[in-house]
Amino acid sequence: MFIDAENLENETTFRADIAIVGSGPAGIVLALELAKAGYEVALIESGRLHFSEEIQNLGEASHFDPQFHAPMSECTRRQLGGTSIIWGGRCLPYDPVDFDQRPYIQNSDWPVTYQEITGYFQRACDYFFCGQSEFNIKNISNIQQKSIVPGLPDAEVLNSTLERWSLPTNFGKEYFHDLQQSQKIKLLYGLTCTEIETNEQGTQVELLHAKTLVGKNIWVKCQKYVLAGGALNTTRLLLASDRQHPGGIGNHSGLLGKFYMGHLSGDIALIHFTTPPKDTVFGFDRDPDKIYVRRRFSFTREFLHKNQLPNIVAWLGSPKFGDPSHQNGVLSSAYLALNMPVLRNYLTSTAMRKAAIGKENQGVYRAHIMNVLKDFKQAIAFVPRFGYGRYIAKRKIPALFVYSAANEYPLHYHSEQIPNPNSAVTLSDERDALGMRRLNINLQFTQQDIDGVVQAHKYWDQYLREHNCGYLKYVTNDLEASVWEQAGDGFHQVGTTRMSVDPQDGVVGTNCNIHGLDNLLVASSSIFVTSGQANSTFMIVAFALRLADYLKNTLV
Ligand SMILES: Cc1cc2nc3c(=O)[nH]c(=O)nc-3n(C[C@H](O)[C@H](O)[C@H](O)COP(=O)(O)OP(=O)(O)OC[C@H]3O[C@@H](n4cnc5c(N)ncnc54)[C@H](O)[C@@H]3O)c2cc1C
Repeated sequence: MFIDAENLENETTFRADIAIVGSGPAGIVLALELAKAGYEVALIESGRLHFSEEIQNLGEASHFDPQFHAPMSECTRRQLGGTSIIWGGRCLPYDPVDFDQRPYIQNSDWPVTYQEITGYFQRACDYFFCGQSEFNIKNISNIQQKSIVPGLPDAEVLNSTLERWSLPTNFGKEYFHDLQQSQKIKLLYGLTCTEIETNEQGTQVELLHAKTLVGKNIWVKCQKYVLAGGALNTTRLLLASDRQHPGGIGNHSGLLGKFYMGHLSGDIALIHFTTPPKDTVFGFDRDPDKIYVRRRFSFTREFLHKNQLPNIVAWLGSPKFGDPSHQNGVLSSAYLALNMPVLRNYLTSTAMRKAAIGKENQGVYRAHIMNVLKDFKQAIAFVPRFGYGRYIAKRKIPALFVYSAANEYPLHYHSEQIPNPNSAVTLSDERDALGMRRLNINLQFTQQDIDGVVQAHKYWDQYLREHNCGYLKYVTNDLEASVWEQAGDGFHQVGTTRMSVDPQDGVVGTNCNIHGLDNLLVASSSIFVTSGQANSTFMIVAFALRLADYLKNTLV
C-alpha cells in the first residue's frame, strides 16, 4: 500500500514490525523479502513517486571537491526506486580475492568470508533480471569464441571473466505493483527520516523521527530498524542522530564516516591487437537468456597477491563521442543527440552523458556535423537500430560500441580504491529545508591507488606481447598524472559504516547491526570494507538478502 506522508495527521505515530529507511534496490528487496515472510513493513522514502527538485535538494552536500566527487544530485536519486532510476545496470559480484587477507592493502580485512555470501548470488540475479549467476564466458554454452581475440589464453591475466547487465532495472518501476499490492508493506513516501532516537542507555532504538516537506512530524515505532538510504545518506542520518551519542550513533570507534571509497576509472592507453580485426570481440555478447554480458581483462587471485596489486579490471571501450577526431558518423550522431536540448534529458542521465561526451568536448558541433555527412549511410542506419535497442526494447543495449578497422580500442580501467581513513564524510553546520545538517564530502585517493593502476597496465601490456596478440599504446607521457586527473567518483559510494567483529574496528557487526544496538541495522554498501573492482549494487542486494534471512530468524 502507498501512503503519501503529506496526507498523514501531524504527530502521527506509525507502527510496524520493521522500518526500512530508503526505497532503492536495498530497501525494496528487503521489504519484499520480509513481507513474503509475513512481517509488517514500514518503508520510508524521502522522495515521491515522481521526481521532485525540492526533495532531491535535501540530499545535496554542503561541500565536496568537484575534481574528485560528483554532485549528489548527479550520483543519487531521491524517489521511489532510489538511484536505480539513473544507474547503468551493470551487475557483478566481488571476487574471492576481495575477501582474502591482503597485508599489502591496509584495513582491507573483511570479517565475513566469500563463501558466506555466494549463496545469495542467484537470488540477487533474479531481482536484477540479469540471468544466471555465471560470470565466466567458458561456462556460457552459446558463445563459441571464448577469448577476446583468437589465441589469447587465460594466464596470469584472464580474459574470460564477465559482467552482466540488468534491464537496466529500475527497482521503483519493476516492483511498483508488488509494493503497491502488498498487504504487508506500507510505503510512506515524501517522508524523510531526520533522526534516530534511542533509549537513555543508547542500547535500543525507540523511534524514528521523520518529516515531510510541509513540516509534518511523523514518528515510526517498530521492533527493528534498517537504514537503506544509500551509503552517504545512511551515514548522514547516523551522524545527525547525536543527542545521546556524541559524534552520532555508531561512532563509538570514531570510524563513522571514515574509509569512504569509490573506484578509479578512466583510460590511459589504447589496446592494439595484431590479430585479425574482424575476430575481436568488442562490445557485448548475449547469453542463452539474451542477457547482455561483457568480457574484461582481470588478474588471477595469485597474481594480484604476488604483485601486491589492488583488484583491477579493464575492458575495451569506445572513443569518447565528443572528440570529433574519431571521424565516425555513428559516434558523432550520438554526440549531437546527447546535446540536443530536451531530447538529451530523455536519452540518459546527466552523469552518463558527461562520461560519454568527455568534459573537454562541449559545443564542438561543426566537426561532428561534418563527420555525420561524410559517413551518412552508416549514421542514418544506426539511428533506428540503436534507438530501438537502447530506448524502446525492454532489455536495453547497455552502451554504444563501434568496430575499429584498425583493431585499436580505448582500454577502460576500473580499480578498487584502497581503504583510507582520511577519506571521509562529516557533518557541516549548513542545514537542509528540514533542518538536517548537510554532509561535507572528502573523497581522498592516495599514491598507492595511482601506482596500482599504472602497474596493472604494464602487466596487461606484457601479457599481450607474450602471447603475440598485441600491445598497449599509451595516450599520455605522464601516466601517473593522467590517473590522478581522472580519479573521482561518487557514483559508487562504498564504506563509511564499515563492518567489523571488534566494535573498535568498525561501525556494524557481521549481522549488519550497529555495534551495541541490535535493533538498528544497515543495508548498504556503506558496510563494505573494500570497494573491489566490481560496481556495488549487486553486492548491496546480495547483502540485503543475507540480512533479510537474518531478520526472519530474529524478528518475533
Ligand atoms: C549514473 C550512475 C550510474 C550507476 N551505474 C551503476 C552500475 O552500472 N552498476 C552498479 O552496480 N551501480 C551503479 N550505480 C550505483 C547504484 O545506483 C547504487 O549502488 C545503488 O542505487 C544503491 O542502492 P541503495 O538501495 O543502497 O541506495 P539508493 O539507490 O541510493 O536508494 C536510497 C533511497 O533512500 C532514500 N533516502 C535517503 N535518505 C533518506 C532518509 N533520510 N529518509 C528517507 N529516505 C531516504 C533515497 O531517497 C533513495 O530513494 C550507478 C549510479 C549512478 C548515479
